[in-house]
Amino acid sequence: MNKITILDGYIDEPTCLGVPPFISPYPRYIAGSIWNFDKNINLKYITIDQLRKNPEKIFILKKSDIIFIIAGSSVPGKYLSSYPASPQELIKIFTDINKSKKILCGPAAKYGFTGPGRSKINKILSENNVFDLYIKGDCEIIISEIIKNKNDLEKVDTFKKRKNAHEIYNFSLLGSKIVMQHPNFYNQLITEIETYRGCSRSITGGCSFCCEPLKGPPDFRPISDIVNEIKKLYKTGIRHFRLGNQPCIFSYMSKDSDKEEFPKPNPKALLNLFRGIRNVAPNLLTLHIDNANPRIISKYPKECKEIAKTIIKYHTPGDVAAFGVESIDPLVIKNNNLKADANDVYNAIKLLNSIGSNLGKNGMPELLPGINLLFGLKGETKSSYKINFEFLNKILDNKLIIRRLNIRQIIPIPGTPLYSISNKIIKKHKTEFRKFKKKVKENIEKQILKKMLPLGNIISNVYTELHIGNITFGRQMGSYPLLIGIPGKLPLNIKINVKIIDYGFRSITALPFPLDINKSNRTTIRAIPSIGRKRANRILLNRPYSSKIEFIKKFDDSKIAKQVLEYITFN
Ligand code: SF4
Repeated sequence: MNKITILDGYIDEPTCLGVPPFISPYPRYIAGSIWNFDKNINLKYITIDQLRKNPEKIFILKKSDIIFIIAGSSVPGKYLSSYPASPQELIKIFTDINKSKKILCGPAAKYGFTGPGRSKINKILSENNVFDLYIKGDCEIIISEIIKNKNDLEKVDTFKKRKNAHEIYNFSLLGSKIVMQHPNFYNQLITEIETYRGCSRSITGGCSFCCEPLKGPPDFRPISDIVNEIKKLYKTGIRHFRLGNQPCIFSYMSKDSDKEEFPKPNPKALLNLFRGIRNVAPNLLTLHIDNANPRIISKYPKECKEIAKTIIKYHTPGDVAAFGVESIDPLVIKNNNLKADANDVYNAIKLLNSIGSNLGKNGMPELLPGINLLFGLKGETKSSYKINFEFLNKILDNKLIIRRLNIRQIIPIPGTPLYSISNKIIKKHKTEFRKFKKKVKENIEKQILKKMLPLGNIISNVYTELHIGNITFGRQMGSYPLLIGIPGKLPLNIKINVKIIDYGFRSITALPFPLDINKSNRTTIRAIPSIGRKRANRILLNRPYSSKIEFIKKFDDSKIAKQVLEYITFN
């Protein structure tokens, strides 16, 4: 019998994320297409992190008849404890595996590997026949053909695409149980959910850098297909969901989306979708969104206000609508056919602030905008940096909040209008870009963080993920979670509540809350406001404490002791 393995090297695309804690739809749909053919097929799923940690697991790949490798990033990302497989890593793994058929899926197969030295790497991969097939069309459709044709790769059309969004319905249901093989299953895994693909702006060619218009106008998944997929995942044990696989959630099920560049949103469809999800997954722990088009929000404020209220009613707080702004410079907007101008972006930020800036029950604002700025675009000059900085300053001056600011440079993707200029402008403005990032970090980001989250605010359900030196880093589960540095080495992979004590440029410093003063380590105790090295030493020497009274009695300054009580417990 066919032994099949899916190796998840993780993907990061503008409209889809599969780097843990996220699992993208790719492995789920692929598994579904295989089990749709034969539910008894021996299918294994492993991640690149499992191979990194236990290289001996390579035996799983060596024993497979066929391996589907999911990989590729078409946007540059920053990661905490997991990161996508590099081409060098894959070359090392697969040049030694000769008996199995090796099929590359995902953005790396469609557009090649991106990043420094990409042409050389892609040449090495093809010259050494590292992979037997590169899937250029829709993985799940082509893989279903491969399995039907008994692994005969000659018989499949590698460019084949799904006929419509409903064609993947069965695959999405059958493949949902593959999540159980993910090392983060079940409480630290967010399933990225597709609602549609394609962009209504494809009728004008779309933004110069983006590959989404290559998929044509939007092809919406029916509400019942999405809700039933979530129902199945929920029954499997998944509690974290993100409706992240689409260019603009506010445009889901817009009418005339194949005729209008900026179609009118459909609040009723969004209401049915969100209500449907909550009905089938009543105790979910995360329900977040991702991309939103600021021009749609600015052009249709009434409909979008209604949609934002629906989202807030059914989602979980800490949610972010990521605006692909790219640039505020009118020249760059014109040269790259970008979606929104400065007014649109400002209006959209203001609208979401008016509805979503309240702190929710997990300590984070309900729903705020995020901004993506992109450099290296056509028409960019040195003054583009000034114009963008002034716009960010205006947001700050007007007391508006952006939950996340993502500043990046283009990755030229084959097939997009920008591909021909490659990274010429990036190279030209290397210094400006570096200076801009620094200036924004120092003058904007920290100020916004302070405005968004007050000192002493409690943030709940933070997962501890990584130690760097004597600091533990953790995040909530969700879309663009805020990075939290906790002084001291805490156990990893636990869920804690924290209390904010300070701000970094893009992160906050917080203490576990409440802090057990009888058990906490020296570094954590020392970080309590008003406690320095000497007091921390005295607190440690005088342990244990059985009550507040005893603590105050043993402390050198009763006024400060009372302030410290705000952070600690004696359990
Ligand atoms: S609006 Fe622009 S960036 Fe967004 S999906 Fe369409 S083409 Fe891509």
